[in-house]
Amino acid sequence: MTHYPWDEDSFDTSISQRTDELYQIPNHPADAEGIIEGIGIIMREVSLFPRLLSPIFIWAEKDRRAIQAAQNKNQTVLILFLNEPEEKEPSSLQVENFLPIGVEAAIGRLVEMPDGGFSALAQGRRRVEILEIVQTEPLLRVRARVIPENTRITRRTEALMRTTLDLFERCVQLDRSIPEEAQVFAMNIEEPGWLADMITTAMSFNDDIRREMLLLRDPNERLMRLSKYLAEEINVLELESEIHSRVQSEVDRSQREMYLREQMRQIQNELGEGDIWTRELNELRQRIEASDLPQEPKKVALREVERLEQMPPMSPEVGIIRSYIDWILELPWTKVTEDNLDVRHAAKILERDHYGLRKAKERILEYIAVRSLKPRKNRQPILCFVGPPGTGKTSFGRSIAEALGRVFVRVSLGGVRDEAEIRGHRRTYIGALPGRILQTMRRAGVANPLFMLDEIDKLGNDFRGDPASALLEVLDPEQNHAFSDHYLEIPFDLSKVMFITTANTLATIPPALLDRMEVIEFPGYIEEEKIEIARRYLIPRQMEENGIQDLNIEFDIEALKRIIREYTYEAGVRNLEREIGRICRKIARLKAEGKTYPQRITADLIEKFLDPPQYFPPEAERRDEVGVAQSLAWTENGGEVMVIEVAVLEGKGNLQMTGQLGEVMQESGQAALTYVKSRAAAFGIDLDVFERMDIHVHVPEGAIPKDGPSAGITIATAMISALTGRPVYHTVGMTGEITLRGRVLPIGGTREKVLAAHRAGLKTVILPEKNLKDLVDVPKGVRTDLKIVPVRHMDQVLKVALSDQVVIPPPRPRRREEEQQEQEEE
Ligand code: ADP
Repeated sequence: MTHYPWDEDSFDTSISQRTDELYQIPNHPADAEGIIEGIGIIMREVSLFPRLLSPIFIWAEKDRRAIQAAQNKNQTVLILFLNEPEEKEPSSLQVENFLPIGVEAAIGRLVEMPDGGFSALAQGRRRVEILEIVQTEPLLRVRARVIPENTRITRRTEALMRTTLDLFERCVQLDRSIPEEAQVFAMNIEEPGWLADMITTAMSFNDDIRREMLLLRDPNERLMRLSKYLAEEINVLELESEIHSRVQSEVDRSQREMYLREQMRQIQNELGEGDIWTRELNELRQRIEASDLPQEPKKVALREVERLEQMPPMSPEVGIIRSYIDWILELPWTKVTEDNLDVRHAAKILERDHYGLRKAKERILEYIAVRSLKPRKNRQPILCFVGPPGTGKTSFGRSIAEALGRVFVRVSLGGVRDEAEIRGHRRTYIGALPGRILQTMRRAGVANPLFMLDEIDKLGNDFRGDPASALLEVLDPEQNHAFSDHYLEIPFDLSKVMFITTANTLATIPPALLDRMEVIEFPGYIEEEKIEIARRYLIPRQMEENGIQDLNIEFDIEALKRIIREYTYEAGVRNLEREIGRICRKIARLKAEGKTYPQRITADLIEKFLDPPQYFPPEAERRDEVGVAQSLAWTENGGEVMVIEVAVLEGKGNLQMTGQLGEVMQESGQAALTYVKSRAAAFGIDLDVFERMDIHVHVPEGAIPKDGPSAGITIATAMISALTGRPVYHTVGMTGEITLRGRVLPIGGTREKVLAAHRAGLKTVILPEKNLKDLVDVPKGVRTDLKIVPVRHMDQVLKVALSDQVVIPPPRPRRREEEQQEQEEE
């Protein structure tokens, strides 16, 4: 380590005094030839240059005595540097073992150090050429020749000095370990050699370089060599500084943040806000500790509180973590309600709330009975209620929940396309939340609610993942005890939940899901059932809801029939209930306004309350027509009567089908036509028709897409009617697929179709023979009202549906001769 006179401030006073003493020691006089003799001290490294100060440390007793002797006898000290610095001791005290040049030095007062050694300040005086070791014992005595320093400044020297100074300046800028004063000091040195030595000392060059510099007698050469080393050093320093600044900017950012956080915390403490924050966190922690969370969520919640403690209350992340903790705290991890497994009680409630629905009621009572006998082993069955809207699926679910004493919750899956809607978004998303399943569980507040998943047949599926597969996990008893939500990230137990799904159709439910479920059908209702439901359930409920239950108002059966026939057209009773509600509200208003209100709602009054009818009793409108037949169709809303029209026009033998018909339906049109062509002779149809006229099949209500093969026999019937001029009976409805040879194949949805025919007031229903077995599901009343004709072949269909009388002339293509005749006339 080198000390400079300029940084005396950093010395303690004793050192600065010692520096003064050193400056007072005069140079030792040399003889005429420049020879001096002095006491020798051996050093391993070149740490002292002429004119510069450096502390030296002395442990060897011999050296201590040498210095004391020199001071006492007013002799000079000559420092020898070992040739081989690695050696601790010189192999022998020969001149050859030392650098040819040493340094004459003035040594200050010895100061004893705590470890027993001594330190002293030394100031280099002159370079000396070592001539001879005069004496080795008891002290080393050395003879040397003073090397005169060339102080002449040529232009070259000046240029060298300036370059060196510039380089040094750059080094000082880059290397923070060199005090800036060193540069000022260097600028004030006027001797070239001194400048070189001073800079060499100031730079922390290695010993090899220092040796080299010591040995150069010519100041110019010293400056040259020095500038080379300085330039090299600058290269390294610049590289270092570049790396450093890159690292620094990284470190700086995080340090700055930490620093600012700390400051903010301090400010908050000053303002008393820090205390509130700490108190809040403590309360939160206590809440978690006191909660009945299972181990894992508790651990996670406490860990998050710890994270909060590391944060200032203003940090935007705080909100995110807080709501995460809230979610953990508010989810029902363990809380359950006790099941009421009393079968008679359940039966009473189901009966109280719902008319009919025999199968569904039986299944639920069986379930409860099994549970009450075998409470442990309970793999919850997953029920799927399938049926048209308004048939009581949801309200039946509610009743089950009430019977069991469970909390009822429901969530609609209609239009859910994104897996994240089921399973939530990861918390790294802004505004992330758990998926619908856990949101609904939180709403339920217990771990064992009755959970209704509505519209499972309307589940979408696109690039954002498949919600059905997430649902599979929800519904699978093997997996749902550890349901994973992306937001929560802690497995959640859904195994105690009783899941019930609902759907309008089974067709669009992913098969893997359908596999897991037990399907219970909710059929559409016939008129009699609707009237019963209205009288027993809908009317009392609506009166109660509108506060008129005490007015003793009665609905006539005829009035209800009118609402059903003219104001609603549905498989279920949702609209019926709504219309009844409207009537009740109107009466409530009359009563409130003090006006008179009817005690009996008769059929005539309906129009007064409900505006003009929306639907017209179907058969009133219709008569037997040529080219028009009625097909029974199945839709998600239940069965429908679908009218099919066929027109035969001049043309080129094309078949045209319109009314938004799907591919399958178009094909069954083609099949029907082929069949008709193949039997044309038997029906007395002119074969030319098929070449010279177009057949147009249209299914009205064109905005609604229609598809399926079951209209096949109806299209064929309408075609034959149109081509023969024989009308189709308007009281007949039919359904069945047709083959090219006129066989009739079975179809689906028999029950709904038959109910629709009944609703529409048809008298006869033509069904494929194979579908006869499906009629067990059709209420007896309907079966007795309708004439059901099972068929195997088109011939049977036509026998029932087609009149024998030709009422209009069958279409006839114009003959060639006629055309020619016409042309000639023109
Ligand atoms: P879904 O869920 O099948 O679309 P809802 O459960 O919403 O049908 O039923 C519509 C309304 O009809 C409800 O008020 C319900 O109570 C009533 N309802 C349906 N079926 C019956 C029934 N069999 N007995 C009594 N009320 C019924």
